[in-house]
Amino acid sequence: MRYQRPKGTADIMPDQSAKWQYVEQTARALFRKYRYQEVRTPIFESFEVFSRTSGETSDIVTKEMYDFYDKGDRHITLRPEGTAGVVRAFVENKLYGPEVTKPVKTYYMGPMFRYERPQSGRLREFHQIGVEAFGVDNPTLDVEVMAMAVELLESFGLTSLKLALNTLGDADSRAAYRQALIDYLTPFKDQLSDDSKERLTKNPLRILDSKDEGDQAIVANAPKILDYLTAEAKEHFQVVRDLLDQLGINYEIDTNMVRGLDYYNHTIFEIMSDAKAFGGKWTTVCAGGRYNGLVEQLGGPETPGIGFGLGVERLLLILADQDLDLEDNLDVYVVGIGQATNAESLKLVQSLRKQGFSAERDYLNRKPKGQFKTASKLNARFTITIGESELESGTANLKDMQAQSEIKVSLAEIYADFAKLAQAKVSEE
Ligand code: ATP
Ligand code: MG
Repeated sequence: MRYQRPKGTADIMPDQSAKWQYVEQTARALFRKYRYQEVRTPIFESFEVFSRTSGETSDIVTKEMYDFYDKGDRHITLRPEGTAGVVRAFVENKLYGPEVTKPVKTYYMGPMFRYERPQSGRLREFHQIGVEAFGVDNPTLDVEVMAMAVELLESFGLTSLKLALNTLGDADSRAAYRQALIDYLTPFKDQLSDDSKERLTKNPLRILDSKDEGDQAIVANAPKILDYLTAEAKEHFQVVRDLLDQLGINYEIDTNMVRGLDYYNHTIFEIMSDAKAFGGKWTTVCAGGRYNGLVEQLGGPETPGIGFGLGVERLLLILADQDLDLEDNLDVYVVGIGQATNAESLKLVQSLRKQGFSAERDYLNRKPKGQFKTASKLNARFTITIGESELESGTANLKDMQAQSEIKVSLAEIYADFAKLAQAKVSEE
């Protein structure tokens, strides 16, 4: 019997994990600057946390949920996205209280699960890095969140990016627009795709986002949300645009953009890339928006919120085309010659590690030649070699692997301050 990982999942092996850590650490450092703090919520939640918020007719709820009944007959779901769980935690932990400074700025990173047809950039277990900010309705925060998302992607060296922007307005705007869309689309009902026929009554805005070419042709002449905004929603969107302009952040308004989740309102955005990895097709890497009703939907007081989620696997697909210098070179390889040096070699690597260096040694009693080969393969900066005679005289040979030059040093010096010794060795060359 050979075991295989489940379809649509991936093993992140040692040769890949440095990239993951680089992405995660870059994000953490950026979020710290913007004063976002990490929250860690459970990977599974009650089914209702998502079914109530993502929208009964959304793909996520209807087709993609990894849900099951546990041994206590509770309806559980592996989280398909990060926002609903963070909002649930925000409410449960009462972060909305008057004593808490607003906005409450949070971020998360971790695995998400969706039952989808696996393909490049689309997995069943994938990872998101996301932020959620609560308690402020000011469009300035919308712009800060978008600026942060753009800065995050740029900090990975991504250049060819597109920020697509739209507004879904408030509840009144949306109701008026929904009716206008239904009025426009109903005469085309028979020509719509089967999915869109169903959406027409349940969630007509979704038709705007249809991947079906026939639908897209019909939608091209549909009324635009911008013509149905209330004065307040129009003002919110205008401020967002003005501030983006003032920050010099380029964007394209895409009035046909809707999001896959039903809880958004006002500002929504996607950051897309046409990197080689996506075959030249503009692909969404990061998506987000405002969700002013969501906290209430999950039982909290009226609290505005906004956030985004970034797909880590899609980001890594782009980074695969770029040269990242993530070499994790070894500082010192200790070459021990003969069984008698075993304990001293161990003491040496332990001392070096405690002094802050990365250190490695041989564990297989190999001959010096084999050990030096490994030291080169691991790109060791220095080797320290001890044999039985060195052991007796309390010395070792310190070799600078770059200059290929060697000197005799005392073991006591290594134990006392290897940094000093290495510095002296290098500057002498
Ligand atoms: P799509 O239209 O591609 O299905 P979505 O609207 O379902 O995307 P969101 O729920 O907004 O995606 O998730 C935010 C980001 O998470 C996406 O832009 C993408 O980068 C990533 N993502 C979503 N689903 C997957 C998946 N199955 N595998 C890998 N990454 C994903
Ligand atoms: Mg999807």
